[in-house]
Order: sequence, then C-alpha cells, then structure tokens
Amino acid sequence: MLAVNAMHVMEDLLHMGDRLRSLGDTFKAINLYTKGSTTLDVIGGFIVEDKGVQALTIARPVLHRELLRQCEDMSDMIEIRYSAELESIKEDKEGCSAILKGGEVVRGEQFIPNRSLQANVVGDILVGADGIRSKARKHTLGENDIIPRYAGYFSIGCILSRSSANLPPDMTLPAFLYTPSGTFLIFAMDNTNDKIQWATSINTPERDRRHGWDELRASGEALQMLKEEYKGVTMEPIRTFVDALSNDNLRLWAPYEVPPIPTWHTDRVCIVGDAAHAISPSVGQGSAQAFEDIAFLARLLASPTAVAKGFPALFEYFEKVRRPRVKTIQAASAKAEGGRGKSGTIKWIIKSWGMWAGLNVFGKGGYIKGDLFSYNVMEEKIQM
Ligand SMILES: Cc1cc2nc3c(=O)[nH]c(=O)nc-3n(C[C@H](O)[C@H](O)[C@H](O)COP(=O)(O)OP(=O)(O)OC[C@H]3O[C@@H](n4cnc5c(N)ncnc54)[C@H](O)[C@@H]3O)c2cc1C
Repeated sequence: MLAVNAMHVMEDLLHMGDRLRSLGDTFKAINLYTKGSTTLDVIGGFIVEDKGVQALTIARPVLHRELLRQCEDMSDMIEIRYSAELESIKEDKEGCSAILKGGEVVRGEQFIPNRSLQANVVGDILVGADGIRSKARKHTLGENDIIPRYAGYFSIGCILSRSSANLPPDMTLPAFLYTPSGTFLIFAMDNTNDKIQWATSINTPERDRRHGWDELRASGEALQMLKEEYKGVTMEPIRTFVDALSNDNLRLWAPYEVPPIPTWHTDRVCIVGDAAHAISPSVGQGSAQAFEDIAFLARLLASPTAVAKGFPALFEYFEKVRRPRVKTIQAASAKAEGGRGKSGTIKWIIKSWGMWAGLNVFGKGGYIKGDLFSYNVMEEKIQM
C-alpha cells in the first residue's frame, strides 16, 4: 500500500502519480469486515482519501521498476551501480567515500550543470537508505549499533486471481477481515482488479535469521501452522484461501523493526527509511515513512538557506522534524498490533462490537477519516 502520505510525495515531488495510478489500484477507504451470522458483515472503515488524492495498492516490483525508470531518465545526474555492496564508510572533514565489498573505494560525484558528472571527487555527504541491516547505520552509531527487533510474527499469504478467490460479491477492497483466529488483509494488486493478494499473520518465536525462516517455509511447517490456526473457520473467502494455499504458492515474510536509536546522522552521513526506523507493517507505513524522509531531506538539500547552515545542522534539523512524525506512526503501529492476532471468541466479540460502536457512533455511516495518513510532507514548513 502506498498510503495517501506516500502518494503526496509521488505527486508533488516525483510527479509519478498518474503513472502509478495507471498501474495500481486506487481506493478511498480501508473497509473492515467481521463474521456476521451467515456472512461477512462490513463494520465500517477508515476513509484515507485526502484533498482528492487517493491511496494505492501496487505490486512492489512494479513500484521498484517505476522508481528505477525515473532515475534512468535522469542518468545525466544519477549514476546507478548494480551489485555494489557497501562495506563501510570513510568520513573526515574533507568529505566521505563508500568502501565496497572487495575494497573498491567509491568517492563522490559532483554535478556540474551542462557538463554532467565529474567523478572521483570526495562526496560532501552520504545518504544511507540501505534498510534494516544498514551498514550506514553501523557507521552512524558505531559500537552503539542495534540489532533489529523481531516483530513477533510472520506474515503468510498468496497472490491469486479474483475469480478464484470466492470473494463475497459486495466486498470492497482493500478489506480487513476480523475472525477469532486472526485478521486477514485482502487487496487488489493492479488496476484490472484481476490479481488480488491476501495475507494474515501467525505469532511464533523468532527463527534463525534468513535460514530459519526459509526452513519454516520449505518444510511445510508454516503452512501447517496456518491450517491448524484456521481449521474451525468456515467463513468465505477465508476457507477457500486457507484450503487453496500450498507450499508452491505461499509467500512468507518475517517483519523486523528498528527501535528508536540515539541519532540518525553524523556530520556527513544521514540514514533514512528502514535503516533509521523500520516499522512493523501493521499500518502499512514503512515505505511511506521512507518516502516522507527522502522528500523532506531533498527539500532541505535544495534550500540554499538550509545548506548554508552546514550539513551537520541540516541533518540535525531533518531529524528534529522527522522523529516526532515517525514516533506517531510507530505508536499507531503498536496499537494496531494489539488487534491483529488470535483473540479467541469472547475477546473477538468484544473487539468487533467495540470497533462497530467506535466507527458507527463517531463516524458517518461507519466510516471515519484516518487523519494520520493525510499528512503532506511537501507542505511541512522549513524553519531553520
Ligand atoms: C510484509 C511486509 C509488508 C509491508 N507492507 C507495507 C505497505 O503496505 N506499505 C508500506 O508503506 N510499507 C510496507 N512495508 C514496509 C516497507 O517494505 C519498508 O518500510 C520499505 O521497504 C523501506 O524502504 P527502504 O528503502 O528504507 O529499505 P529497503 O526497502 O529495505 O531497501 C534497502 C535497499 O538497500 C539495499 N542494501 C542493503 N544493504 C546494502 C549494502 N550493504 N550495500 C548496498 N545496498 C544495500 C537492499 O538490497 C535494498 O535494495 C512492509 C514490510 C513488510 C515486511
């Protein structure tokens, strides 16, 4: 999901809104369903549209391809290197360089208008967008670097065609389905509405890094855990989803988080996105926060006033503005975690009624505005 706050960046900074809308599936609200007496009943949901901008679901490789295309269109300014693995960073008062696995030292490049890139000058700054196990974070935190925290569950699901999914005819996607055994998310992958994806989560102790998770999947244990958890659920489409899942078509992810860390920058290196603050996917905001980060950092770097204060001060200000926003999202994610897993019948009835009452008492026809995601980082004031 690219929530509306991510779409604001796509629209106002990257100008990719139309292109992405032509490839993904736009939506105005996230709908919540729970088991009624014979059917799945909608209890309401969250309106996510803001000032005409809608949220979007899109396949991750398609989004990556489009972002890459955007960079390739600016090849006179952006050089892309593949299979280049950052090992460490050298930083001193002259500038910084990236040291790759194998020992190659990549120095910065200077953009000279009309003369394209001049290579091999020391870079002024390095922005580390290298994800949860970031080497740039290791440089930034030194011996205080943290170990990413396992979120406590794995997500499991599958991509299938809408026609084979047995969805109730009046179900509007994306939809959260609440059952006593856990929560299912269903969303469309593209604008033809043909491919959909579902996912749910199962609490389990942490496995050994990548090998342990691969083993859980390959051995069929993950599939068995799902089938066991949902063996008593007859409600469609969940029954069809679970029965049709096999080791050949299942997808599995184990989410990790980066807990609050003391700093996101040194004098010349700044980390963004998951490297700085990976958030578990309960509210679908990890990449949205990464996009907000890069949009705000790009705006600061384009501001002569901000740059004149020096990079350490610019990064300090970046962190000062971004930290509270990320903290709010982390809090929302932690709250959503509480409603995600298996609850048992009694807790589930209380939860469903609580949600119904909350949405229908305070919301219009059961729908309330999800204000958290309408934030537009492009309108954030720069006051430094
Ligand atoms: C199951 C699941 C569902 C999610 N759903 C959503 C959602 O619906 N919406 C949403 O907004 N977010 C979602 N997220 C979160 C989202 O995937 C992340 O927050 C987002 O990908 C972070 O982007 P990033 O660029 O910071 O890091 P990444 O996407 O991790 O990218 C880091 C890149 O750096 C590269 N890299 C790493 N180390 C090195 C190195 N040493 N040298 C060179 N390159 C390196 C990696 O190969 C990778 O390409 C979900 C996450 C999970 C696990």
